[in-house]
Amino acid sequence: MIQLTTAAKLENAINKARRVKPFVRVNRFGSYTVTNKQTGATYTVTCEKRDGKRFASCSCNAGERGNACYHVAAAVSAHIQIATEAASFTN
Ligand SMILES: [Zn+2]
Repeated sequence: MIQLTTAAKLENAINKARRVKPFVRVNRFGSYTVTNKQTGATYTVTCEKRDGKRFASCSCNAGERGNACYHVAAAVSAHIQIATEAASFTN
């Protein structure tokens, strides 16, 4: 479980996601399947909010050790985009 605080904490993971450009599939809001198109490796990322804090978890080795991996960075950017679009319907 990774607590999402500042973008700076995710910076390395975000940079790697930009290089690798993994494919993010939305299972449902908060649950994503991230595929590395080069290796075919697929991991599941979940994003959730608890007590106003944002958390993400990933099924890869780094993610299971609580490290911010690029799968989380890629899924979080999709998650934020979906949340922003959903909010635009109610505003
Ligand atoms: Zn991961």
